[in-house]
Amino acid sequence: MKPIVAIVGRPNVGKSTLFNRITRSRDAIVDDLPGVTRDRNFGDARWDDKAFTLVDTGGFAEGDDDAFAPHIRQQVEQAIIDADAIILLLDGKGGISPFDADLIAILRTVDKPAFYVVNKIDGEGQEKALSDFYSLGIDTLFPVSAEHGYGVASFLDELTAGF
Ligand code: GDP
Ligand code: MG
Repeated sequence: MKPIVAIVGRPNVGKSTLFNRITRSRDAIVDDLPGVTRDRNFGDARWDDKAFTLVDTGGFAEGDDDAFAPHIRQQVEQAIIDADAIILLLDGKGGISPFDADLIAILRTVDKPAFYVVNKIDGEGQEKALSDFYSLGIDTLFPVSAEHGYGVASFLDELTAGF
């Protein structure tokens, strides 16, 4: 069985964009409106000689962050059950949300590897945004731009190191 890796995070952080980049597909629907990924979406991924299954999550109703919270939590919990490793995607442009801390707290209680990835680090200026995320108490953050590809290779090296 190939390892299963789930991408979780708040709406609009770029989960589907990252999924598409890693699976080299356009299967996941990327949209400016949060919540357009209607179901969990499974894709085949390969990095060097390591094959794995990537899961894009989403499908929450639109609303403010409070409205998302139960859905996100439920999806994270399901992802934890199904997956061998979890990617928590954070928004380097939008900054920290209270739910990020919530999701991190959930991930800390489980015995599966979690990778904390800060997306939308598109240019030099945005590297600064990273330091904010270190206040969440995470040891290792992976800065990436799902849209442009920055950082994705280094992240995949780490993600698949144990596969
Ligand atoms: P999801 O709801 O987490 O699946 O997020 P999407 O993948 O649908 O992306 C939400 C929005 O963020 C879209 O407008 C994307 O074009 C944008 N986005 C995704 N990745 C990046 C990135 O690396 N940089 C920037 N600037 N925007 C991004
Ligand atoms: Mg999506």
